[in-house]
Amino acid sequence: MRSRTKVPLSAAFKPLSPIAPEAQASGLAVVEHINRLLAPLHFQLKGCAWSPFGNFIATPHDSEDVPKLPEALPRILQDMYKVPFSHLTFDSTSFVVVYNLPLGPADNWTDPSTLALSLMAQNNISEPLPASPGRWLANPDRYKGTSASLRLSLSPQAKVTILKSGSLFYEGRPHPVCAFTAAKTKPNQCRRCWRLGHSEAWCRRTNPVCGSCSQDHPSHHHNSVAPNAPHLCVLCKDAHPSWTRWCVNRHIQLAAQPPLPKKRPTAPAALKKKAVPGGVVGATISGTVSVTDPAGDVTTIL
Ligand SMILES: [Zn+2]
Ligand SMILES: [Zn+2]
Ligand SMILES: [Zn+2]
Repeated sequence: MRSRTKVPLSAAFKPLSPIAPEAQASGLAVVEHINRLLAPLHFQLKGCAWSPFGNFIATPHDSEDVPKLPEALPRILQDMYKVPFSHLTFDSTSFVVVYNLPLGPADNWTDPSTLALSLMAQNNISEPLPASPGRWLANPDRYKGTSASLRLSLSPQAKVTILKSGSLFYEGRPHPVCAFTAAKTKPNQCRRCWRLGHSEAWCRRTNPVCGSCSQDHPSHHHNSVAPNAPHLCVLCKDAHPSWTRWCVNRHIQLAAQPPLPKKRPTAPAALKKKAVPGGVVGATISGTVSVTDPAGDVTTIL
């Protein structure tokens, strides 16, 4: 069975200039009209909708047809609404981090993408998410806590709105949110032992560690000494080199402090409408404490 969380079920299209709410038609007639034009391409829409951010969301019957939408729909939508539409894509600039979410059972963490989808639903955000929208910022093999931070991939508009509100609600509790900024920080990664938090000049290891395979040889000897040794990351023990950027960034983000909670987290409805001043009373959010020890090991206490 195809996983619903891995494959995007729909695609979003952003008009060059906003379409007036009264012109945002999405009824059966619209679907039928679009389907007539899609007929030569051998796929059909199941439905369409307008997101709170004024983007057109199209859902084909078969999620395998989602990649065909960017080819066909902008032209059709431009004919219908008389403005150019562009396909909304997702990139690393659209990551946010949601703090202190429950991981679920210790031996079987909640699927991060499923959690991402429930977060969207519980906060009335109907914008579609990209494939694999969530990633836990913790390593199941080593992390012993019961809650962790989740990295969410979002459309740029959803990101702006969520960051403005400062928190996302999960099962009734507000969780602080901040932009995933690790990529902008230059990591202080030791090229002798590949740990974070010190440079080679301060490394206390007598023998260098290979950044490719984690064995006891200098990284530049790897191809002559152990050319067939598989990749093994010093930081997370996964099968990639220790300098892999997203892994390094994840460990930097783990060491970062969550933002201070805003005084008055606003209710999920505030994501759609302007917050009513004095509407919701803030809840106390316990902070996350992360410590980087001299060896570069990052410990996050939640
Ligand atoms: Zn070192
Ligand atoms: Zn090696
Ligand atoms: Zn790694």
